Amino acid sequence: MSTETAKSKDAYNATIARITPVADGLSLFLLEPDRPIDGRLPGHYVSIGLTDPDSGKLIRRPYSLSQSLGSTCDPNLLELLIIHVPEGELTPLLFNLTEGDRLFLRPKMLGSYLLPKLDPDMSIILASTGTGVAPHMTMLETCVEACRQVVLMECVRYSAELAYANQIQAYATGHPNLLYLPLVTREGGPKRYIQEFFSEGILEQEHGIQIDATHTHVFACGNPAMIGIPREDRKTGALSFEIQNGLIETLIQKYGLSIHKPRRPGEIHFEKYW
Ligand SMILES: Cc1cc2nc3c(=O)[nH]c(=O)nc-3n(C[C@H](O)[C@H](O)[C@H](O)COP(=O)(O)OP(=O)(O)OC[C@H]3O[C@@H](n4cnc5c(N)ncnc54)[C@H](O)[C@@H]3O)c2cc1C
Repeated sequence: MSTETAKSKDAYNATIARITPVADGLSLFLLEPDRPIDGRLPGHYVSIGLTDPDSGKLIRRPYSLSQSLGSTCDPNLLELLIIHVPEGELTPLLFNLTEGDRLFLRPKMLGSYLLPKLDPDMSIILASTGTGVAPHMTMLETCVEACRQVVLMECVRYSAELAYANQIQAYATGHPNLLYLPLVTREGGPKRYIQEFFSEGILEQEHGIQIDATHTHVFACGNPAMIGIPREDRKTGALSFEIQNGLIETLIQKYGLSIHKPRRPGEIHFEKYW
């Protein structure tokens, strides 16, 4: 073992308490930090790392914190929903680990993909692709308890990848202000993407969901192609959209919502994973 490797492994400060396979190449990891990390809010992410056995370098990546509904486990344990990217750097190492193995966990809650001040007139739409459902699981109960209406939409390739579907469906049964819309693209049924629910008015026409800048906040997490993040001209503030009919373009142009920024609060919140 090189000195560099030894050093970065010395930085390991968390243990994998449990790994729960969800689908092929998709697992829930429950991490136990050596010391609890303060300041957690719904939507936060953490950074974890493993030493690359060849270079000895610590490879770090961000992961949204997730949350199983009704979980009774120690609140200091951190739940992550992670997909294996075979050509990636960190996840092939991660998916070789077993329970009890150690890794690096930056002892800080990170990110600004956080809920606004909620009120009973609000309607919150949580839209994700793939593992992007993770931060929405940490927001879900808070939103359902505080807001008039919550829509949780998630789009995955195969239904086995709907990691929390059973829990969400059971929870929705007792909470009529929650609408759960799981979408699956590769099982032969009609392919419907999240963006189309907005651009084609499906949410309004089929589900009676009104979208307007006064009452609606939309959270979008996961694949940048779904989110459709615009470029902003620094001088004029004009937005240009490389991805046509992405979610953000529709929310701005059709519904009059604006992108949330720390100094200019808006109703569109997004977290892109790559
Ligand atoms: C704020 C933030 C939070 C994130 N949270 C999560 C999370 O909760 N779960 C999770 O699995 N990933 C999450 N990611 C992505 C994660 O950080 C890594 O990029 C991913 O695990 C791949 O790492 P890697 O080193 O194996 O691959 P890399 O060498 O980093 O390869 C990156 C490539 O992998 C693909 N990729 C990355 N993330 C995903 C994904 N989630 N689904 C499908 N393809 C992907 C893309 O093609 C991307 O270009 C998050 C990213 C950000 C910025």
